[in-house]
Amino acid sequence: MAARPMPYLDDLNPAQREAVEALEGPVLMLAGAGTGKTKALTTRIAHLLGTGAARTNEILAVTFTNKAAREMKERVARLLGQGVEGMPWLGTFHAICVKLLRRHAELVGLKSNFTILDTDDQVRLLKQIIVAEGIDEKRWPARQLAGLIDTWKNRAWTPEKLPVAEAGAFNHRGGELYAAYQERLRALNAVDFGDLLLHVVRIFQEHEDVLAQYQRWFRYILVDEYQDTNVAQYLWLRLLAAKHKNICCVGDDDQSIYGWRGAEVGNILRFEKDFPGAKVIRLEQNYRSTPHILAAAGGVIRGNEDRLGKELWTEAEDGEKVRLIGHWDGEEEARWIGDEIEAMQTGARGMAPMSLDDMAILVRASHQMRAFEDRFLTIGLPYRVIGGPRFYERLEIRDAMAYFRLAVSPDDDLAFERIVNTPRRGLGDKAVQTIARAARGLGVSLVEGARAAVERGEIKGKGGKALDLLVRQLDRWHAQVQAEADTHVELAEQILDESGYTGMWQADKTPEAPGRLENLKELVKALEEFENLQGFLEHVSLIMDNETQASEEKVTIMTLHAAKGLEYPAVFLPGWEEGLFPSQRSMDESGLKGLEEERRLAYVGITRAEELCTISFAANRRVYGQWQSQLPSRFIDELPEAHVEVLTPPGLYGGGYGAAGMGQGRSRLEEQASRADAYNSPGWKRMQARGAARGVQSPGESRNLVIDATAVSSFSKGDRVFHQKFGYGYVMGIEGDKLDIEFEKAGSKKVVARFIQSADR
Ligand code: ATP
Ligand code: MG
Repeated sequence: MAARPMPYLDDLNPAQREAVEALEGPVLMLAGAGTGKTKALTTRIAHLLGTGAARTNEILAVTFTNKAAREMKERVARLLGQGVEGMPWLGTFHAICVKLLRRHAELVGLKSNFTILDTDDQVRLLKQIIVAEGIDEKRWPARQLAGLIDTWKNRAWTPEKLPVAEAGAFNHRGGELYAAYQERLRALNAVDFGDLLLHVVRIFQEHEDVLAQYQRWFRYILVDEYQDTNVAQYLWLRLLAAKHKNICCVGDDDQSIYGWRGAEVGNILRFEKDFPGAKVIRLEQNYRSTPHILAAAGGVIRGNEDRLGKELWTEAEDGEKVRLIGHWDGEEEARWIGDEIEAMQTGARGMAPMSLDDMAILVRASHQMRAFEDRFLTIGLPYRVIGGPRFYERLEIRDAMAYFRLAVSPDDDLAFERIVNTPRRGLGDKAVQTIARAARGLGVSLVEGARAAVERGEIKGKGGKALDLLVRQLDRWHAQVQAEADTHVELAEQILDESGYTGMWQADKTPEAPGRLENLKELVKALEEFENLQGFLEHVSLIMDNETQASEEKVTIMTLHAAKGLEYPAVFLPGWEEGLFPSQRSMDESGLKGLEEERRLAYVGITRAEELCTISFAANRRVYGQWQSQLPSRFIDELPEAHVEVLTPPGLYGGGYGAAGMGQGRSRLEEQASRADAYNSPGWKRMQARGAARGVQSPGESRNLVIDATAVSSFSKGDRVFHQKFGYGYVMGIEGDKLDIEFEKAGSKKVVARFIQSADR
């Protein structure tokens, strides 16, 4: 081995070093948050490359988010003190599988330019299938079937392998509809997210030669956040690692937070069985957080029964206690956090000034973000939102993307359907049916069907002319994509202009229109970072974050789920309230599974903080336009008192929270009752008075009563809703202030609208 200097090894403790240097054979690193698992994994890659044990293309490294993949690449380069020429196989499961599937698409009956559907396309397609089967889509919503199919795919159940009991779901038609859906996808040359993995697994299982080639190729396999792999991902890894068995997985059972998406923490526990002789390495020293933060996190996670149990220690100085603060409502919470961030930035808190980049707000549900976004926009505090494809889920972005998709693949029928009459071209349902008929008759795509219908004069008048123009534009844009004559950024702008899409929003006088135009600009800006449209489209369908790179310092806002693996000197954890965190869904579930996952999420949240962690809750919250009163989260009671400082916002919260919520060893009911007592304190009385002036009801009186007078009009047919007693369901009809709801468990019921909450995830 070359006697090159390996200074990066000096930064590791002995256990980490062992994990890095044990290059041959299976290694499992099982350790708590902040113990340097990712650091060891990254160093291992650097070591593989630095010692010449492997070339970049022989290393398969799987991370959980694109952001994590980017960071890992940068860190490897830094460790080696040189640029790493491409790490072609370092990325998320999905990104790597897209690559593999493009190479071997024909083995599962696809063409290599297949389209990746997002959730919305998926639901639309399922709706068509459900309707075509003569099933009442209102009773049996496509979204529900989409959820089922996702779950099945996460478990690696293809239609053929679907257990009988599962196939009987969805009014006994689940299995059959799943098969029909897969057929349609194939006909459309499209895949959904779950397919990316499943198709590749199938290729590996059915084509030994292909599998053997990759088994030889990937001599070293590394997996971060192993606790969150699902069955399909697990099978994929096991197949690839079977030859060399040089697989190194790192994870933490206490941070398994994707159970709801089919992750199997059992994969970690099974590792030693799957790979006999595996070296298991445990790390206990935490290098990220102060003792107070660690103790707070440890106190919470101890509430879980189902865990391996690990203790962490740190050499760091005590630092500040975890701070806890209650607010009147979500708006006030956002205002306080905004002020606090500004104070920290300028050093007004008596601490050294802190960069905005070092602060993050981690929310349980993405709807919590809006209050912060609004507030920060008002006070001009720069922020970025990461987590979830929110930006790319917006209507205008999806429309624009549909145009881009068509320019890249003209046979993308779903994209064509989306934009054929957007902006309005006078092509109503009838015209669309004519196009579809023409396409079916000829066995071609909708674009080709449209061309034929125009040529045969089947669509008359203004609509016909507009369609003719659209088809010719699509031809030209596609030719431009292929010729690569213009930069893709210019082309994108041109498409949005020529199609009339930008013009449509410019002419729109609704209050949202300016924001939509902003978003379109943002989209074009995002394109600049990619080589071409195809690469961008791929990225978007895989994306986990919408961060636009900019040099300006910004506070980060993201979901707890997206924050996995990350760290920030200062972390704010707002909205610790029953029904929000833990979520209502987890509280409704029978058994502890859901609650334990929420608790792990709390553990993940607290352990993101290095120096300062601030937890907050509000007594009232507007959820989907309706006011609701809230009780502090049970997780707040689980914070060890000695490590928590209860803050009192001046003039807001005169009564101490400490007396009310920090009880230990009491029954849940007693705790809830005493938490409710906090609402009788003088401070709350003052807040009630202020709130009453704003039309908000007091929290103690009417838990979960919807008190917004406009509630009735805020529901529409098909909405997913929640009722305290009957659980989840869908709105089937609306009569005055009563809603006709089909509940999942309780069946069909008429319920007064103010007892209903919106339940979209
Ligand atoms: P998580 O479970 O949250 O993903 P992790 O175990 O992956 O955490 P890392 O992110 O690798 O932890 O490391 C946490 C922090 O500790 C990082 O800032 C890292 O640079 C630092 N660190 C890790 N190992 C050491 C070490 N041996 N000496 C000094 N700092 C270290
Ligand atoms: Mg990590």
